[in-house]
Amino acid sequence: MNKQPYAEPWRIKMVEPLKTLSKEQREIKIKEAEYNLFSLDAEDVYIDLITDSGTNAMSDRQWSALMLGDESYAGSRSYLRMKQTIQELLGFEYVMPTHQGRAAENVLFSAMLKAKDIVPGNAHFDTTKGHIEFRHATAVDCTVDEVNKMDSDHPFKGNVDIDKLKACIAEHGVEKIPFMVLTVTCNTGGGQPVSMNNIQAVSEICKQHDIPLIFDSARFSENAYFIKTREDGYQDKSIKEIVKEMFSYADGMTMSAKKDAIVNIGGFIGLRSEKIYRECCTFSIMFEGYITYGGMSGRDMEAVAAGLIESTEYDYLHARISQVKYLGDEISKLGIPIVKPAGGHAIYVDAKSFFPQIPQNQYPAQALGVALYIEAGVRGVEIGTVLADRDPETRQERTPKMELLRLAIPRRVYTNNHMDVVAWGLQQIWAKREQYRGLKIKFEAPIMRHFTATFEVL
Ligand SMILES: *Cc1c(COP(=O)(O)O)cnc(C)c1O
Repeated sequence: MNKQPYAEPWRIKMVEPLKTLSKEQREIKIKEAEYNLFSLDAEDVYIDLITDSGTNAMSDRQWSALMLGDESYAGSRSYLRMKQTIQELLGFEYVMPTHQGRAAENVLFSAMLKAKDIVPGNAHFDTTKGHIEFRHATAVDCTVDEVNKMDSDHPFKGNVDIDKLKACIAEHGVEKIPFMVLTVTCNTGGGQPVSMNNIQAVSEICKQHDIPLIFDSARFSENAYFIKTREDGYQDKSIKEIVKEMFSYADGMTMSAKKDAIVNIGGFIGLRSEKIYRECCTFSIMFEGYITYGGMSGRDMEAVAAGLIESTEYDYLHARISQVKYLGDEISKLGIPIVKPAGGHAIYVDAKSFFPQIPQNQYPAQALGVALYIEAGVRGVEIGTVLADRDPETRQERTPKMELLRLAIPRRVYTNNHMDVVAWGLQQIWAKREQYRGLKIKFEAPIMRHFTATFEVL
């Protein structure tokens, strides 16, 4: 009953002071930013939950590893250390550094994908989809329907619907499918995990049809934590054992090291096939750099190696994911609707039910993001109609099923006191929620408008 509370398995050795503005000052700043949270100076944000990507705090081991960086152009010791760590932890023989995750996609897809191809997956991440569509190929989403059910407590909402996958293969034929992408955890689906059972089932189908299975692995260790804590038969396995098993089903992987390698920049490709690796080499040299650094410095590769070891430790993951859950619980307790269950890296507030008076074409999630910045200096990000953008053909605005404010939590950066401020800010808005109005777009770019759009308050 009286269980010892958890606490972070680290203490703080260095701090970065934060500036706090008054509410009146923030009202001016956001007006100057024309109500786009991306346009704020980061300094004017108190608690920055815009992303968990590259915003991590490195450990003393990682900082000291930086000093060991070997900056040789070819075959550096740091590359060998990163490669060896990846071989041991994840089991891939061939390792190619890239400057970040989308660069890994660019290199690998250049080698494997051509126009008119079909790439099935579980809610492909937007850069993944971008790299598929840029090559005039099509991403087919085969995620289970639960991913769109806000209240469903399904423990593995990132799973692939096996029937959808089979139907996709039957419809398009294996010749059209150069590979499948499995995203762990499923970012677009809300940081929801994929079970080992599902990974096995997907792998079996891919093997039957000779379709290589590629993991989009940005949050692979968070996925392993969910397997350990939610799936039968894994309670007594270590995270490193689970990670090894997960990747044993993959033929290759792309990685954004800005997530679960707990660094600020970096990425890599892992492969079993020498043939595909050879093909990637050309594209690496063209786009990234020589094959043993691929856009990364030696010191950054050292930090990735150290970070991968740390991110696959249970105590680290338990503190990390418990903090995300803590924020979710605090917000839920106030009666504010969020996507359940809490994902691995972020909490998603349901802005449609928060502001029922604001129609989707007046951007309720953007309005909530602006309100939370003004109220508490917290910066989240809209995952709704602004992000969904316009249909490239009809130019009509797409209206997604859900209208969400994402609060992504950087790794090892904030304390639960910060999380209390976030929940408090939402509580203030909730108490006067019927007073809020929507927004109107003043300017938008032809593609990816969410980064640079400007708004006015209605
Ligand atoms: C972040 C991310 C990427 C892209 O990685 P970058 O390092 O941002 O280029 C790809 N897939 C997933 C699932 C991600 O979360």
